Amino acid sequence: MSLLVVGSVAFDGLESPFGKVERTLGGAATYFAVAASFFTHVNLVGIVGDDFTPEDALIFRGRRIDTEGLERAAGKTFFWAGRYSENLNERVTLTTELNVFAEFKPRLPEKYRTSKFVFLANIAPGLQRDVLQQVHKRPKIAALDTMNYWIERSNGELRETLRQVDILMINDSETRQLSNEHNLLRAAKHIFKMGPSTLIVKRGEYGAMMVDSRGVFCVPAFPLEEPHDPTGAGDSFAGGFMGYLASVGEKNDAALRRAMVYGSVMGSFTVEQFGLERLRSLRRAEIHARARHFAKLTQFKL
Ligand code: AMP
Repeated sequence: MSLLVVGSVAFDGLESPFGKVERTLGGAATYFAVAASFFTHVNLVGIVGDDFTPEDALIFRGRRIDTEGLERAAGKTFFWAGRYSENLNERVTLTTELNVFAEFKPRLPEKYRTSKFVFLANIAPGLQRDVLQQVHKRPKIAALDTMNYWIERSNGELRETLRQVDILMINDSETRQLSNEHNLLRAAKHIFKMGPSTLIVKRGEYGAMMVDSRGVFCVPAFPLEEPHDPTGAGDSFAGGFMGYLASVGEKNDAALRRAMVYGSVMGSFTVEQFGLERLRSLRRAEIHARARHFAKLTQFKL
């Protein structure tokens, strides 16, 4: 089933203890679309400036990614820069330049409007809502990601958008900030009152936790000896998660649990190299091998 994503397509400046890259292709929707395209067809909605070259666009070629909804405008592409701490667990944002996103009015191609699975990647909550409103029927699953930048600057818009989504997928500090609650289970109860019926908390090297009315399900992060750059791990997680669900067309508990594993698998590949490099070279067989490895990692008898 078709999967729609709206979010940033960006240039990123990255600094980690493993190196520094001044400007590389990134953006939440880019990581999401590439990760999800290993599982299903993806329709991409976003905007780039005239500095986005045909060579940059190659990241979407030869994959199941439709870019009719990727608008080109005069001006500069969204730019973000961040620096990671020694242990890669903390990150500070150095620069956020919205550029062409500041004036973006998304218009969905007709063929995108029947999407059954929708992912509102991290971008202005008003744009996320605009896109959701153009989808004809209520999707089977609408999921949303956001970050401190939008929680602080556009809280009202975000609350409004949250009322219309099923799954909120954010990291632990964003969960605490949005709910004003330190304990993640108590935070989930607050968030359910805002609209979503499922909360997925991404916890970096500690894995991810899904909370809904049936209870809690946790997956670890795949243990890696040398993670290099966590940028995009959350979006790749979301791509694996939503891509898997769209590929099976289901949203029952068993499918959601498997989706958590595929999410964690995709996030783990992304952190192995800088930017999108690892996803560029990734093969489907490697994804399935790592998912099997996951099953072994978490198996036990009582
Ligand atoms: P993640 O590491 O999964 O949180 O996502 C990193 C990606 O999010 C980078 O490639 C950035 O270009 C993008 N990003 C960072 N800040 C923002 C923002 N305020 N709005 C939209 N995208 C952003």
